[in-house]
Amino acid sequence: MEQDEAQSLIVHSAFDNMPSKQYNQITMNLFTLPHRRYNPLTNEWILVSPHRTQRPWLGQVEKIPAESLIAHDPNCYLCPGNERAGGARNPNYNTTFVFDNDFAALLPAHPSPSPTAEGEGRELLRAESERGRCRVICFSPRHDWTLPDMPLPDIRRVVDVWSEQTRELGELDFVSYVQVFENKGAAMGASNPHPHCQVWAIEHVPTEPAKELRSLSAYRSERGACLLCDYLTLELDQRERIVAQNDHFVALVPFWAVWPFETMLLPRRHIGALPETTDAERDALADMVKRLTTRYDNLFAVSFPYSMGWHQSPTDSAAHPESHLHAHYYPPLLRSATVRKFMVGYEMLANPQRDLTAETAAARLREMSETLYRSTQ
Ligand SMILES: [Zn+2]
Ligand SMILES: [Zn+2]
Ligand SMILES: [Zn+2]
Repeated sequence: MEQDEAQSLIVHSAFDNMPSKQYNQITMNLFTLPHRRYNPLTNEWILVSPHRTQRPWLGQVEKIPAESLIAHDPNCYLCPGNERAGGARNPNYNTTFVFDNDFAALLPAHPSPSPTAEGEGRELLRAESERGRCRVICFSPRHDWTLPDMPLPDIRRVVDVWSEQTRELGELDFVSYVQVFENKGAAMGASNPHPHCQVWAIEHVPTEPAKELRSLSAYRSERGACLLCDYLTLELDQRERIVAQNDHFVALVPFWAVWPFETMLLPRRHIGALPETTDAERDALADMVKRLTTRYDNLFAVSFPYSMGWHQSPTDSAAHPESHLHAHYYPPLLRSATVRKFMVGYEMLANPQRDLTAETAAARLREMSETLYRSTQ
């Protein structure tokens, strides 16, 4: 495998703006030499240092999280029938369960007085009010399950709820963006192992999707095409970074990935948001969620931590033909269940850096079985 990796790779740079055709093919040895890669979605660079993957590790070692084995935990505020910290009691739900976050980061009412900065210095000391709704989606009544443990019809139900919540919250007058995201595992700061995600519906389009939507818009006006549709075509042609695919969705390690086993999950069809998915696409999405998270868990035989989230069209009044629905998975684990990546030093002060190449990460994920290592069947 290492000999394969050492082969040089021809990169068709679909995104560079260089006028001369001779620059449309860049040959370089991406597997052995330090280089930087461009992320056309965020207009940012990442440093890749593949020659460093063999260096000895003397840094922090994580504890392997104890796997939770009870189906119902009387002390869990997300389990059916239990009381939550705010005093409300969960119903005895047997599928998904959605509720307003008891300690919401945002509130739907206008704060009074408004926190807008006034007077001298307001150009530099800017503040604006921000309204929003924060909800929690429990994926399953089973405390001991995670997405890869769940049967496909149950995951399909989660996909439906992602779409329903996006539509319902997006229809609120003041909401410009609906962010669906999941923090899984203590390594990503998740406070409860019960399978769940969050939905924040907010007044202004947040920084990360706003950055990407600007790039998608610019690409569309320059080329009359979609950046992610073009990128997906390129990836399906090169096959170097594809992890798994089905009729409607593709999971790949982006060329410009920052996190060691970062992936992007995107529909083949140019659709802007979750509510636009068809019945067949939702089945296909459930299938991909199960297959991708199973591969993740099998990688180091551990319940794999990550932050994931959907990027989709804003729900302001404007049309967003530039938007192409996609999810990002950002997992922190680097070389085993106990060694994680930290974004510190150069990465905090300059730009992200990685040792493992995106191509090697994709190959590792491709090698994984789609039968969960802890499955009893
Ligand atoms: Zn629970
Ligand atoms: Zn597209
Ligand atoms: Zn994105």
